[in-house]
Amino acid sequence: MSDTSSDLSGLMTIPGQVDPVPVARDITPRADGRLDLIGLPRPRICELLAEAGLDQRQAKLRAKQVFHWLYHRGVTDFAAMTDISKAMRPWLAERFVIGRPNIVEAQHSSDGTRKWLLQTDDGHDFEMVFIPDETRGTLCVSSQVGCTLNCTFCHTGTMRLVRNLTPGEIVGQVMLARDALGEWPKGAMDFSDDESAAQYTADGRLLTNIVMMGMGEPLYNFDHVRDALHLVMDGDGLGLSKRRITLSTSGVIPAMERAGEEIGVNLAVSLHAVTKEVRDEIVPLNKKYGIEELLQACADYPGASNARRITFEYVMLKDKNDGDEDARELVRLLKQFNLPAKVNLIPFNPWPGAEYECSTPERIKAFSDIVFEGGISAPVRTPRGRDIDAACGQLKTAAKKKSRAERDREDAAAQAAP
Ligand code: SAH
Ligand code: SF4
Repeated sequence: MSDTSSDLSGLMTIPGQVDPVPVARDITPRADGRLDLIGLPRPRICELLAEAGLDQRQAKLRAKQVFHWLYHRGVTDFAAMTDISKAMRPWLAERFVIGRPNIVEAQHSSDGTRKWLLQTDDGHDFEMVFIPDETRGTLCVSSQVGCTLNCTFCHTGTMRLVRNLTPGEIVGQVMLARDALGEWPKGAMDFSDDESAAQYTADGRLLTNIVMMGMGEPLYNFDHVRDALHLVMDGDGLGLSKRRITLSTSGVIPAMERAGEEIGVNLAVSLHAVTKEVRDEIVPLNKKYGIEELLQACADYPGASNARRITFEYVMLKDKNDGDEDARELVRLLKQFNLPAKVNLIPFNPWPGAEYECSTPERIKAFSDIVFEGGISAPVRTPRGRDIDAACGQLKTAAKKKSRAERDREDAAAQAAP
């Protein structure tokens, strides 16, 4: 595909219902002129070091060292980079910063789920959720502030798209979660590549999986999501296997093949309905990319196999998409396209003003049984973190409105003060 796409992504039309929005450039200097290195690939760090005055050899070596400290060790201060000469550390700190999304609020649910309300440097709020269970710890990462797509059951869909998150803001969520979970390797801080696996896992990997299921449609922010996930998967970066990463899309067909080829992670597709009428209503993107076309794109998804099945997400909406006939049609469609599929039934998470109700547990069970009898696994996703509104589709930064209003009030109060 076009190799200029990253430069153009800020100007590209975002095919959705909302006008295209200019995207922040990947490298926007801070107010003090320093550049944030988080989100940049190693060759770009090398270029920046060379532009700042290092010769090629030095720039390459330092870029490798800095990259290792950033992504493998998680340091946020150049002073901690002990294999870089003492004189060079302040030189780096004068020119560069190691950023993290700002934390507005961190919440902890009674079931162990954690939610963070985060903020970009230009003041936009977005969210990230961590969901631990017996066998893994899953981080639900946002790709956009808001969403263009307006799915009628989704709280994020009621927000307009504010902007795409940059690669740094996307990978920054993973880094922040590692910070919060205390998961960076400790111990000997010398620069060596032969750190033993035992030493590396000694801190315990609480964060084992990533799902691109936070706010936004990841395939409408393709380049930034791809670049961020490359950093997450880089063996000398965060080092997470592509098998532990899942990208969820509402069905942006033209970007699906590219996602398979250029990112290669597991695919989840928000199907949610089996008839044109219902899917047009609840996932309006269906008017542009219909069900059959979508399932064909899934069948063509590079890397899908019985060992790596595609997940079909299906939100359970009372009297809307939850009938026996819907379940039977779902099985028929998945078989017709010969898809290596599993179905994930998501109980609808209500939010204030939502026009739907969740199907009854009996209905969900009956639906699941029909799909299962059709030979396709159909587990029901247990809602997590409901007490802190961290469940699927509830991410709308409720605190944002409050804090905005509060900030405005504070500003007004500050201005009124003598
Ligand atoms: N935009 C992408 C990824 C983010 S949404 C997508 O739509 O796939 C992650 C999942 O949560 C999607 O399957 C989405 O349809 C689902 N979801 C959204 N709102 C929900 C709600 N209120 N209750 C249950 N699931 C919801
Ligand atoms: Fe956007 Fe996904 Fe919500 Fe639809 S379900 S509005 S695509 S975030």
